[in-house]
Amino acid sequence: MENIIIIGGGPAGYTAAVYTARANLSPIVFEGSKYGGQLMTTTEVDNFPGFPEGIQGPELMTNVRKQAERFKTKLITEDITKVDFSRKESKNLLVFSGDKKYEAKAVIIATGSDYKKLGIDSEKKFAGKGVSYCATCDGFFFKDKDIVVIGGGDSALEEATFLTKFASSVKIIHRRDALKASKFMQDKAKANKKIDFVWDSVIKEIQGESNVELIRVENIKTEDISEIKCQGVFVAIGSIPNTTLFEDQLKLDKGYVVTGTKELPKSTQTSVEGVFAAGDVQDWMYRQAVTSAGTGCMAAIEAERYLEKLE
Ligand code: NAP
Repeated sequence: MENIIIIGGGPAGYTAAVYTARANLSPIVFEGSKYGGQLMTTTEVDNFPGFPEGIQGPELMTNVRKQAERFKTKLITEDITKVDFSRKESKNLLVFSGDKKYEAKAVIIATGSDYKKLGIDSEKKFAGKGVSYCATCDGFFFKDKDIVVIGGGDSALEEATFLTKFASSVKIIHRRDALKASKFMQDKAKANKKIDFVWDSVIKEIQGESNVELIRVENIKTEDISEIKCQGVFVAIGSIPNTTLFEDQLKLDKGYVVTGTKELPKSTQTSVEGVFAAGDVQDWMYRQAVTSAGTGCMAAIEAERYLEKLE
């Protein structure tokens, strides 16, 4: 019987571990077969406080992981395969890794999300070399560059608008002739002189020596292929929260874990008492390492108070 089980080994999970371990709650982190989350595939992280010269994503995650270990967090490199939060079989919360069953008084979910990918070969090749999934993180590196943004939702328009602060031009490439984004975001983007739209088009290939230099785009109505010179490709076609495990256990909204109560709307409390969620798994909006760490800390403090109340 554990006090706290944390599911997920990214900034939210390890931060929750540091806080709960320092509160003498002996947390267990199931960090999955691959630890670190999305930052493991990021290069320079310039916006995480405390690193004036920036830090590489994998180094940052290795450091946070070590910090959690320093306070005697138990790290288990296994993937959780099932959870049972019904309290029918046991009054505790149940977490399974294959045949192994663990019981806990509180659970913190920090399983993160993945950016939706275009799925073309050259996307992988140029990841970190002009292909990005986060304008807030990487926009700064594209001063006076020509950029394309893929997508037609709120994220694409928000990212495109943000990128005009740095870029000389931003082209939004959308697969249809109508945007999915809210009217407000559409009006804002359409009024921005640096933004152009390329309608009914999909990206077929990204080309360049070592960094992105141009993309080949197909108009799906005419089947014409054209080339667009650019140095940055921002993919903003949505993200997929890692919540399959919780589908019949917790209240979800568009796949994200719903958190907050009537009394405390900003709380990390989920629809099940004793289960808290932190990081991208409950956040479609900010999706930053620092906000994940912040909500990881919140979940830890709330879990600690919940356990105190139980006693
Ligand atoms: P989204 O609403 O699901 O939009 C994804 C967009 O990408 C759609 O336009 C979609 O095209 C396109 N797309 C999807 N797969 C594609 C593919 N394989 N190739 C090319 N295009 C593809 O995702 P989101 O924009 O990330 O927004 C997610 C949620 O966050 C939404 O609820 C949104 O309102 C919210 N959000 C709000 C704000 C804000 O209020 N400030 C900011 C960002 C996000 P189709 O249109 O053809 O489906």
